[in-house]
Amino acid sequence: MIQSRAAVCHSANQPMTMETVEVEGPKSGEVLIEIKATGVCHTDAVIFWGINANSPLPAILGHEGAGVVVEVGPDVETVRPGDHVVPLYGAECGTCRQCRSGRTNICWSTRKTRDLGVLLDGTARFRLNGQPIHHFMGTSTFSRYTVVPEVAVARIRSDLPLAQACLLGCGVTTGVGAAMHDVRPGDTVAVFGLGGVGVNIVQGARAAGAARIIGIDPNPMKRDLAARFGATDLIDPVPLGPRLVAAIIDMTDGGVDVSFESSGELGVMRQAFECTCVGWGTCVLLGVEPDGAEIGVRPVMVRYGRTLKGSYFGGVKGRSQLGRYADMLAAGTITVDGLVSHTLPIDAVNEAFELMRTGQSSRAVLLHA
Ligand SMILES: [Zn+2]
Ligand SMILES: [Zn+2]
Repeated sequence: MIQSRAAVCHSANQPMTMETVEVEGPKSGEVLIEIKATGVCHTDAVIFWGINANSPLPAILGHEGAGVVVEVGPDVETVRPGDHVVPLYGAECGTCRQCRSGRTNICWSTRKTRDLGVLLDGTARFRLNGQPIHHFMGTSTFSRYTVVPEVAVARIRSDLPLAQACLLGCGVTTGVGAAMHDVRPGDTVAVFGLGGVGVNIVQGARAAGAARIIGIDPNPMKRDLAARFGATDLIDPVPLGPRLVAAIIDMTDGGVDVSFESSGELGVMRQAFECTCVGWGTCVLLGVEPDGAEIGVRPVMVRYGRTLKGSYFGGVKGRSQLGRYADMLAAGTITVDGLVSHTLPIDAVNEAFELMRTGQSSRAVLLHA
C-alpha cells in the first residue's frame, strides 16, 4: 500500500479535492505507474460537469497521462520498472476476437469492468479513509500513482518529455491516427471542427501527404491555429449557413476525398458526409453525439461509392502501434507545440477545467510534482 496525491471527484459539479489516497500494489497482470503529466480532456469534463452520469463516483478522473512504471504484479512480462509508458483507455489484449481479427484497434476486453470503475478482478486499487474510490476509463491519471492492467499499458521511448508524451494518450493519437488511416498522398481533405482533435487531424493529414486541407470552424482563433498546423484553406461556416456544402463541393471540383468531423454536432456530421466526392469520398466521424441521436443519410450517397465511418482512438492499436506516434513526435513530423496553452500543477485541477469551460485554454497539462 502506498500513498498518492490525487484529485478526487466526489460528485458531479462539486470541485475536485486534492487528497492523499491509498493505492494498493499491482495484482497479477497489473502495473503500478507513477504518472508525471496528464492532459485535461473533454471526456473528463463530461463526467465532472455531470453531462454524462454513467460513470460511477467518487472517482479519480484523467485519461491522457504518461509516466514511469514503478512496480509490476505477478505474470507481467511486457513492461518493467523504469519503462516510460502511456496508460490506455482502450486495451489491446491480443487474444479477443477483435484483437485477433487484424481488422480493428477496438478491444473490449477491459471495457465492462472499466466502465464500472474497477479493474479486471472487479475491485478498485484506490482508497480514501478506508472507502474505495473508483477508477475512471481504467487510467485515473489525476492520481500520481495509478494501477492499470498490463493489456492497457503502452511502452514508449524514454527520450520524449512526458509532459508532451501524455498527449499521445488521447487527443494527439485520436486526431493524427484518424488522418493517417484514411488520407492518401495528394488528397483533398476537409476537417470540420478545429479543436484539440481537429487540429491534430490537420497535422496528421499533412503528415500523410494531403495536398489540400480545408479547415472549417466558426472560431477565428481555432482557424489560426489550424493554419499553423497545415490547413491550406480556412472557412468560417457561419456566413455561408446552408450553402457551406455547396461551397466546398465547388472549390474542390466535386467534393473532398476525405472529410473528418470532430465537433459532435449532428448537422455538422451530415455536412461532413455530404461534401465528400462521388465514387470514393470517405467521411470519418470522431465527435461524440448526444445520447441516442441519429443523423439522416440519403442511401443514394452511399450507393454511389461514398463511405461513412468512424474512428476510435485514431484506429491505433495502443500497445503495438503507439510507439510509431511517439517516433513521429520525437522526429518533429508531428508536434504538440502550440497545442498546450496551460501547464499547471495538479493542485490547479479545478482551475484547468474552468479554463476549458470558458474557452480560455486549448489544452491544459497538469504536472504531478
Ligand atoms: Zn480524451
Ligand atoms: Zn483484445
